[in-house]
Amino acid sequence: MKVALDIDGTISEHPQFFAWLSQQLQQAGHSVLILTFRDPAREAHTRAELTNWGIVFDALVFAESMTAKGPLCGIHGVELLFEDQDECIVNVPERVLVFKIRNGGNFDFDSQQWVSTARLTQLLR
Ligand SMILES: [Mg+2]
Repeated sequence: MKVALDIDGTISEHPQFFAWLSQQLQQAGHSVLILTFRDPAREAHTRAELTNWGIVFDALVFAESMTAKGPLCGIHGVELLFEDQDECIVNVPERVLVFKIRNGGNFDFDSQQWVSTARLTQLLR
């Protein structure tokens, strides 16, 4: 399997879990791809941060926009994606299983509602 992990709002929400997950996946012969919308100029900082968290990976891929993550999943043959932002999920190929991470940026814990935009959310009636 090829598994992609977002950093901010995903790995950063529980680095200990994602360190364990990434290590287990690699040890089992699977591939771990880090897929981030961070500035590529921060690659050294990003690699150091991931290492400090204990995250192991086969590739670090910088998306040039949030919506670019979808096509990159296709290009890299990603089968599973852990991601917190709807904008990054909408263009992901249908065959990719997406694990959406809930955090303070995409969920209003006071009102118990997801935070999104009309463009990305179709409300049920
Ligand atoms: Mg994120």
